[in-house]
Amino acid sequence: MSVVDRQEWDVVVVGAGGAGLRAAIAARERGARTAVICKSLFGKAHTVMAEGGIAAAMGNVNSGDNWQVHFRDTLRGGKFLNQWRMAELHAQEAPDRVWELETWGALFDRTADGRISQRNFGGHEYPRLAHVGDRTGLELIRTLQQKIVSLQQEDFKETGDYESRLKVYQECTVTRILKDGSRVAGAFCYERESGRFFVLDAPSVVVATGGIGKSFKVTSNSWEYTGDGHALALLAGAPLLNMEFVQFHPTGMVWPPSVKGILVTESVRGDGGVLRNSEGKRFMFEYIPDVFKEKYAQSEEEGDRWYEDPDHNRRPPELLPRDEVARAINSEVKAGRGSPHGGVFLDVSTRMPAEVIRRRLPSMYHQFKELADVDITAEAMEVGPTCHYVMGGIAVESDTAAARGVPGLFAAGEVAGGMHGSNRLGGNSLSDLLVFGRRAGLHAAEYATGLTGPTGGRPLVDDVQVDAAAAEALRPFSAEGPAPGEVEDGRPPENPYTLHQELQQTMNDLVGIIRREAEMEAALEKLADLRVRARRAGVEGHRQFNPGWHLALDLRNMLLVSECVARAALERTESRGGHTREDHPAMDRAWRRVNLLCRLTNPTGGLAATDPVHGQIDLARENTEPIRPDLLALFEKEELVKYLAEEELYE
Ligand code: FAD
Repeated sequence: MSVVDRQEWDVVVVGAGGAGLRAAIAARERGARTAVICKSLFGKAHTVMAEGGIAAAMGNVNSGDNWQVHFRDTLRGGKFLNQWRMAELHAQEAPDRVWELETWGALFDRTADGRISQRNFGGHEYPRLAHVGDRTGLELIRTLQQKIVSLQQEDFKETGDYESRLKVYQECTVTRILKDGSRVAGAFCYERESGRFFVLDAPSVVVATGGIGKSFKVTSNSWEYTGDGHALALLAGAPLLNMEFVQFHPTGMVWPPSVKGILVTESVRGDGGVLRNSEGKRFMFEYIPDVFKEKYAQSEEEGDRWYEDPDHNRRPPELLPRDEVARAINSEVKAGRGSPHGGVFLDVSTRMPAEVIRRRLPSMYHQFKELADVDITAEAMEVGPTCHYVMGGIAVESDTAAARGVPGLFAAGEVAGGMHGSNRLGGNSLSDLLVFGRRAGLHAAEYATGLTGPTGGRPLVDDVQVDAAAAEALRPFSAEGPAPGEVEDGRPPENPYTLHQELQQTMNDLVGIIRREAEMEAALEKLADLRVRARRAGVEGHRQFNPGWHLALDLRNMLLVSECVARAALERTESRGGHTREDHPAMDRAWRRVNLLCRLTNPTGGLAATDPVHGQIDLARENTEPIRPDLLALFEKEELVKYLAEEELYE
């Protein structure tokens, strides 16, 4: 019989980044009693690290911009694999979400005539990123937090309790979504500081947990990005979509080793920075792919003129979508034309006065000065690709953000799949968080508050599930014994840190930026070995703030997600966006029709019932939904021929 503390809510939002906070605000404003739970400190979500800006076609700097152009750019960036309805909603609603932020107190940089300023970014036809220096994510989170506090103050006036309708549980982690039959019924959680377990009972759960980068060795992502939400959804019975698409940002720091992977924002290139190899050559001109040839400058002079006169010149190829730039850097380094520490040079020092660099790129200036002792106003930075973002994610309905097949489960932000297709454009994440965070919150609230009647009423969590979740969470403390289904053989427990390092190395080396069939097969074998060993991951000490224990629990999630990435990457025999196969280097139009869905092999039995040697993920193909004709009409026929499958063109 379970004795854990339980509290009742209408909506539980897992994650307090941009998507989670926007969802919580929407749910509370729609009348749902809403809880937000986050494993880091409130205000320290990944969104805080977003630097360059938020993409929204407001047309403040170039009046030619509008939602249709933004939609087109997003589909081109995603190589037409985007869930087109999401891309449409995103392009249409992003300007309203930015305006709304401003009315809630966000202070964006301004144009000379006082409007919200917008900057250039890779793949965006016009200057489109609203920004606050290179600290946009910080301002976004600060504003959303402020809005939450103001809603709590309203509630206090009415009820005498600040947390009566909106409560934040910070430094608490969800390890299981609980169910009543097929429906969501709540979340099982532990408090990181005390190790105390508790349950949040709720008919709606919005997953907004961000990405998966900590499964890779070189990454721009922070410690929370262990794919928890992806795994929670899988374990609850929802499928993940197109997990092979992982974005390697072209410019991470490469040196010193302790900071390898930390992001160098794309706004460095958007504001005029150029990439050079060890011979001093601006090599990106050699790497413009055919599909983009007409849209990018063919000479340095033209590219440079574009910064001053974008209407009469084409943009420089340093601003190609991220997948193209990352592959180009990789090729230059491989060809022996890299920088001393295995990257290439990114230079602003010869392109802008020192004072402008310090004003427009203050975080980059300090980051290099403090971490690498490099003054970017006087010398070039060394940069190389770093694992940055996952395009794959929980399969959702476009309009409602409802996860497929699990009533009451919703997902928004980086953890949701579909919006960005095979490659995300910079700036399109922050806008995605706000557009779909809001939609997820609204629909989660509507679903929860609309439940009535004896059979359609609120779902119930039974004690058996709670006890099972508690036992699973406690297992690392008794790992000297055999895991369920294993024979006692006296082996010592496995160290979770060692397992994590081996996992990161495996994903980096074998399922990284350039992929090969034999290597991915080797990765799947290594993952099977790690899964077996992870069942014996053991920790010492007690439940009070024990990072080893937390990591042992996160390993389950990283192993599940990594298997999804490796299986889907092996299956897709083409190169597209964030998925590059050396053995299938071309984009294959036939694959545009194909989505890959990952599901848990044994959803009812859970992980304990599956044999870790044989993998835990089933992969299935499904046809993508045909793009609506009026949206296709936004493109020239000659362009569509490059992307769409033969039968689609015929249709
Ligand atoms: P997050 O902001 O990461 O929030 C996730 C939340 O979930 C956190 O609160 C975390 O604690 C919580 N959580 C996770 N697991 C659990 C669990 N098991 N239980 C409870 N809580 C949990 N995008 C842009 O559009 N423009 C940019 O300029 C830009 N710059 C970037 C710069 C950097 C350095 C990086 C790394 C990314 C950048 N991105 C940018 C991408 C963008 O920041 C992220 O995609 C986005 O912030 C993700 O937001 P989110 O709300 O989905 O998740």
